[in-house]
Amino acid sequence: MISVKSLYKQFGDLEVLKGIDLQVEQGKVVVVIGPSGSGKTTLLRCLNILEKPTSGIVEIDQQSLDFSQKVPSGKIADFRRLTGMVFQNYNLFPHMTALQNVMEGPITVKKEEKAKVKERAISLLHKVGLGDKLDFYPFQLSGGQQQRVGIARALAMEPKVMLFDEPTSALDPELVGEVLRVMKELAHEGMTMVVVTHEMKFAKEVADEVIFMDDGKIVEQGEPKEIFENPITDRTKQFLRLIE
Ligand code: ATP
Repeated sequence: MISVKSLYKQFGDLEVLKGIDLQVEQGKVVVVIGPSGSGKTTLLRCLNILEKPTSGIVEIDQQSLDFSQKVPSGKIADFRRLTGMVFQNYNLFPHMTALQNVMEGPITVKKEEKAKVKERAISLLHKVGLGDKLDFYPFQLSGGQQQRVGIARALAMEPKVMLFDEPTSALDPELVGEVLRVMKELAHEGMTMVVVTHEMKFAKEVADEVIFMDDGKIVEQGEPKEIFENPITDRTKQFLRLIE
């Protein structure tokens, strides 16, 4: 479903991704861990071209972009629709209700029919446990509820892949569980997911594969049990010791 080959990303002189190769099969959940500044968010943003890779090939659902050549912006816009992104700070439109937030993308970007979108949005908000909050504005919702609107909003675009960038880091501890539960349910339904998170329990329980990044490279990858119980590199061991 996802294939990344020799991905590089530079910000000015700073090389942030230094040759990433990654394959994610359909229906699998990959959790990306690693120290601050190792390039986790940048990798995620390169998967939906919110950041344009400096070079390399990114392929999702058989659509491929090769950044060693100039890629037309129309192609990037089409490619972006393959993924749904959930951000750390929810990024909801503050002047729109939960329902309007979820309906916005399909109507403005995909030009879908409003009645059909509304039906889907209501059903998605029920799915994330917010069926009774359709007309609430973001400021009337808790962080956990806002993030669940964020997930429903991403799903409303019917993406092939869901990308989560530290979706629970901004939440009070007691609100983390409700967001992780929704993510777990999505994973069980067979959604292909790439998740940057510090929630090691989630990684252990839900991930098919854990990727440890350091200094712009994938240092180690494998099943959660292997990575957490039997890390190979000193760098991984050191990182895991620090976060436990
Ligand atoms: P964290 O866990 O702290 O979020 P991360 O592993 O997700 O870290 P990135 O956010 O990908 O790391 O950042 C990697 C490096 O790239 C950092 O040094 C960061 O300052 C730099 N960086 C990220 N985005 C930009 C940008 N738009 N312009 C310049 N430098 C950037």
